[in-house]
Amino acid sequence: MQGFIVHINRVKDEDLIVTILSEYKLKTTYRFYGARHSVINLGYLIDFETQISMRSNLAQLRSVIHLAQSWNIDRDRFYFWQNFVKLFYGHLKDVESIDRFYFDLLVSCSKKWHKQSPKRVAVEAFLELLQFEGRLHSLEYCFLCEEKIEDESAALARAFLPAHTECIHNKGLNINKLKELFRTKKTLFLDDDETEYLYMIMNEGF
Ligand SMILES: [Zn+2]
Repeated sequence: MQGFIVHINRVKDEDLIVTILSEYKLKTTYRFYGARHSVINLGYLIDFETQISMRSNLAQLRSVIHLAQSWNIDRDRFYFWQNFVKLFYGHLKDVESIDRFYFDLLVSCSKKWHKQSPKRVAVEAFLELLQFEGRLHSLEYCFLCEEKIEDESAALARAFLPAHTECIHNKGLNINKLKELFRTKKTLFLDDDETEYLYMIMNEGF
């Protein structure tokens, strides 16, 4: 089975609780400390097996192979990746069965991660996720005051909820650019500062 390591928690005696996002499940597994284990890291795509264990009520993580991607050794890119997968864990951690969408989305991002700006790949993926979950709102109304947004700019809050710039005290982005972004889910026509603005909001959580 394959999956992305989205959370690692160190427990007693160097044992680890490892959460893996696989095709249809968010699997929480237990890895006993042992020198013969391969090195694992948050964000790695791995091939693995699990086994029922007498020593823990979690399945034991076994036969791990790191399916390394070329950019895994690029420190900055890998750092952004780890940040990105953490958001998936935060979002899905209370669910066990998940739609295949999430795994496929991470696979598709991981294939582009070295070719494009990771921040742009992440923001575009986040828009896909919001759309998939039916949470991508139109930019028509402010979620705070519930009045129409008729200004040249609109601001976004967590999960890209739209608001008047004055309601949220944030200068926001040009409304037409935002509309285009929500429609195409592409950041191509945004500059780096605009992309950074969206990236920072995304990092508040899915
Ligand atoms: Zn408002």
